[in-house]
Amino acid sequence: MGEKVDNQSQAVIGVDIGGTNIKIALVEPRRQELLETVRFKTLVDRGPDAVLADLSAHLTELSRQAEKNGFVLRGVGVGCAGLIDLASGIVITSPNLPGWENFQLGKRLGEELRVPVFIENDVNCICYGEYWLGAARDLGDFLCVAPGTGVGGCLLIDGKVWERHGYSAGEVGHITIEPDGEKCRCGNYGCLETLASASWLVWRAKERLDKGVKSSLRHKLDSSGGLDAESIYSAAVAGDKLAQELFHLVGTSLAIAIANVAHLLGIRSILIGGGLSNGWKAFIGPLREELGRRLTFVPPAEVKVVRAQLGDDAGPLGGAYLAGKRTGII
Ligand SMILES: [Zn+2]
Repeated sequence: MGEKVDNQSQAVIGVDIGGTNIKIALVEPRRQELLETVRFKTLVDRGPDAVLADLSAHLTELSRQAEKNGFVLRGVGVGCAGLIDLASGIVITSPNLPGWENFQLGKRLGEELRVPVFIENDVNCICYGEYWLGAARDLGDFLCVAPGTGVGGCLLIDGKVWERHGYSAGEVGHITIEPDGEKCRCGNYGCLETLASASWLVWRAKERLDKGVKSSLRHKLDSSGGLDAESIYSAAVAGDKLAQELFHLVGTSLAIAIANVAHLLGIRSILIGGGLSNGWKAFIGPLREELGRRLTFVPPAEVKVVRAQLGDDAGPLGGAYLAGKRTGII
C-alpha cells in the first residue's frame, strides 16, 4: 500500500533488550507520541533464538495493531546490552546475555519484520531517549554516566553518540579512580565501576560488615532479604553511618571521573542515569562537593549535573528516536 504512505501516520518501534526485561515502545516520532508499550521477561536461559522468537512475535503483533490504526511502521531501533557491532547489528559479546556471542540480532530481526532494523548499545539508547524527550533535552553536548549493576557511559556530541574504533568511546566506568584498588571484571584495578556501581556497593558493605563495622545493614544481611543497593540507600537515608559512607564513596568517585572528562573535553553537562541513580539524594551532595575540589580549569558552577528523567522508558524511546532519525522521519 505504498501509495497511501503520504496520507498515513508513520510509526517506529523502540526496543530495549536487557538481561532481565525487554521493553518495547510504539511511537509516532514527529508528534513525539507514545502509542503503546509492551514489557516482558527476557528469560535469558532460553538462549537467543527463543528470546528472538518471543520478541518477533510481540513486534509483529504491535505492527499489526499500528496498521489497523492507520500507521505505517517505518523502522525498529534496538538498544541491546553488551558490545555491539553497529554496522552489522551483531552482538559481539554481552555479560548480561549469556549465549549471545556473535548473534546476528539486526539481520535476524530485519528478516522477521521486513522493515529496517537499527541496533545500538543500550546505554547509548538511554542517552538518545533522554536527549530527545528527557532530562538532556537542553544540555547540548553531554557525558552520560549510568551506574547500575556496572557503570555504563557515553558521550553525546552534536546530537550523536561519539563512537570510535574498538567500541570503547565513552566507557567512563573503566576510568581508573583508585590506582591500587580492587580488580574490576575488565581486568584493570580501581575502575570507577568498582567504586560506584550497585554490585560493588553491596560487595563493599559486606566486606565492611565482615570486618566488624557496626551498622543496621548487619540485620538486613542476616535476614532472608539480604543486601541490595536499595536497602543500603534506605539505611543511608535513615542515618546509618556505613551506608552513608558507601554512598559518599559513590559520589566522590563519580565526581573524580566527571572532572577528568570535563578537563579533557570541556564538557559542561553531565547526565546521571542507571539504577543506582535512585540513590541520588545519598550521593549528589558528596559528588558536587568533590567536583568543586577537582575542577580547576573549569569553573564548577558551569558544570551542570542532572538526573535522568525517563527511567525505564529512556531505552525504548531512544530506540524509537534512532529509528526515526535513521529512516529520515525526524
Ligand atoms: Zn574496569
